[in-house]
Amino acid sequence: MLKVKDLSFRYKKQNILEAISFNVEVGEHFSIIGESGSGKSTLLKLLYGTYDLNEGDIFWKDNEILGPEHNLIIGSEYMKYVSQEFDLMPFITVSENIGAFLSNFYPEEKQERINELLNVVELNKYANIKVKELSGGQKQRVALARAIAKQPEIILLDEPFSHIDNFKKQSLRRSLFKHLKEKNITCIVATHDKDDVLSYSDNMIVLHGAKIMASGAPKELYNNPKGKLIASFFGEFNVINDCIVYAHQLKVVKQSDLKGIVKQSYYKGNYYLIEIDLNGNLVFFDYDETLEKELEICLEIN
Ligand code: ADP
Ligand code: MG
Repeated sequence: MLKVKDLSFRYKKQNILEAISFNVEVGEHFSIIGESGSGKSTLLKLLYGTYDLNEGDIFWKDNEILGPEHNLIIGSEYMKYVSQEFDLMPFITVSENIGAFLSNFYPEEKQERINELLNVVELNKYANIKVKELSGGQKQRVALARAIAKQPEIILLDEPFSHIDNFKKQSLRRSLFKHLKEKNITCIVATHDKDDVLSYSDNMIVLHGAKIMASGAPKELYNNPKGKLIASFFGEFNVINDCIVYAHQLKVVKQSDLKGIVKQSYYKGNYYLIEIDLNGNLVFFDYDETLEKELEICLEIN
């Protein structure tokens, strides 16, 4: 497994990461979440051996992952990393990029493998297009395919779908994460998108103030979000009587102490998000229909 113990790191004077410890089992899908600037990308780079740690150590199975001071070549066969800025070879085709690190010894098998990977990232139609002619999202898909081409033991993905539009995102996410699970590839994803986490992650950590603020299975953190930061990652929420209450946990009733005035209805497709003024605080809840402004309604926590 991956073992991170007491890791601390700073680029300059200030600690970006401090006393970070966690383990990831073989085949596990693990998410690192946190606000922009919380150190997600830095942590992934450290796991990859890009920098020397100031304190602590990182092991993958029996191999210590060392930074450039002790290790001339960054990265290894068993670990792949897809950065936020995927560096591809622009002047060769999608297929050639994906197959760049595959052996030429068995050309038929190589082609089969490339086809399988084109399927996973849904780029079959673009196989023979030069990478420089692709959009950002398409390039990101090529980078993902290339990273899994040789079946690493562990893959580090930095916001893997950030450049991919909503039309493609859902199916690509399912396809890629299913592929990684099937091949038992350990997967660590830095993300700020709850949809990358909820349906797929076995475990997650939340980075905040250079530390791990919370860790556990997504379900545990969702059901018991310790603090507003974690709740806001998962969705629309309110603080009512010092408790965090998601918008979907509030229900309209005939009579209750939670009485408010409707201010706005936001169309959300299969429901409306209603904003009410509750004793001077704005409270949000989900409802089937739009509600008239200034209507008085009562709410109950489900
Ligand atoms: P995230 O991926 O969560 O947005 P990053 O790991 O990219 O966060 O950045 C964490 C902090 O480290 C930020 O304050 C950022 O400005 C700083 N940082 C990132 N890369 C460098 C660098 N190469 N040199 C100096 N500071 C950096
Ligand atoms: Mg980042």
